Amino acid sequence: MKSVLIGVGQAGGKLAEALADFDSRSSFGAVLDAIAVNSAEADLRDRSLDSVLVGQSRVNGHGVGGDNELGTEVMQADADEVLGALDGRVTARTEAIVLVAGLGGGTGSGGAPVLAKELKRVYDRPVYALGVLPGRDEGAMYQVNAGRSLKTLSREADAVLLVDNDAWRSTGESVAAGYEEINEAIARRVGLLLASGEAVEGVGESVVDSSEILKTLENGTIAAVGYASAAAAPEAGENVSTVTSVTRQAVHTGTSLPDAVDASAALLVVAGRPEAISRKGVERARKWVETETGCMRVRGGDFPLDSDRLAALVVLAGLENSDRVQQFLDRAREATAEAESVEAERPDSTDVWQNDEIDDLL
Ligand code: GDP
Repeated sequence: MKSVLIGVGQAGGKLAEALADFDSRSSFGAVLDAIAVNSAEADLRDRSLDSVLVGQSRVNGHGVGGDNELGTEVMQADADEVLGALDGRVTARTEAIVLVAGLGGGTGSGGAPVLAKELKRVYDRPVYALGVLPGRDEGAMYQVNAGRSLKTLSREADAVLLVDNDAWRSTGESVAAGYEEINEAIARRVGLLLASGEAVEGVGESVVDSSEILKTLENGTIAAVGYASAAAAPEAGENVSTVTSVTRQAVHTGTSLPDAVDASAALLVVAGRPEAISRKGVERARKWVETETGCMRVRGGDFPLDSDRLAALVVLAGLENSDRVQQFLDRAREATAEAESVEAERPDSTDVWQNDEIDDLL
């Protein structure tokens, strides 16, 4: 799926860069272009991508400090600059535009939904978001921000591919220390997903096409991606259980949104040397995904890759009603209610001006 990436905010910029690097290292050519957008000048300086600084008149390059309402405002004011930067980058070859953002912060959280809306207005192309959920031990503000951002993004974008920051963190490791590892894991999964419709070697009937990805993501608003790989035997006949076991692992331990299996559509891509991919294994694995997720239809295909390993890439779409997403939304609602009650208990600082004769200046 030939895509143009827009990394919004700090996490979004780093992840868009990791994705573009993975795509170019693997010579896939699925990432056509990538830019970074931020209100914090210092964060853009660290990126190798072309960049757009937004909100200069409002925050003077200093960022929005985790205030996602301000993130929304600055993006609304400067969306035209971002659209201008996409001129000539989004071309007839572009099959999708992918916004990348951490949903718990300020610029990405508040800005990505604005851009999704603007991009849908201007381009006749699917607009997807790759959104990062804050880890459980990140503060209440992150949960509140992510809840609001996810709600709006789900409405404005064609689909939101969710990554839980707790998904690939080794136990005991802090979120910050684990970022690099997490970003690599995301880049590999999403990078392979974007590339899987681009297969050039072996153009057999079973090779997956980009349209399968697009059709899978049409089934709902929230999606997740899972991945696992294992060493393969040279002959397909010896790899029946390898295909089924990597598929199970992709869904259960290799997914970007752990424990979300209640999906309305799924896609299973099996990557490896064509002669090593067991058809019987693929058939069994698809049946297993069908039963496990309750999907009526599991799309799929092969991704021919010159590798000694076999890998399964599983996209689950329509996860909005899954327990996992509902749990996150409950966490965000609780954090929002707590923040509001603290606000209500605080003495109203404007009281001192009540019944006062002094007029406001503005
Ligand atoms: P912004 O710059 O205002 O958009 O804010 P951030 O992008 O820093 O968003 C904060 C959220 O993103 C928090 O939930 C962080 O845990 C997460 N985050 C920040 N940097 C990274 C990163 O490099 N990788 C991942 N996976 N998450 C990150």
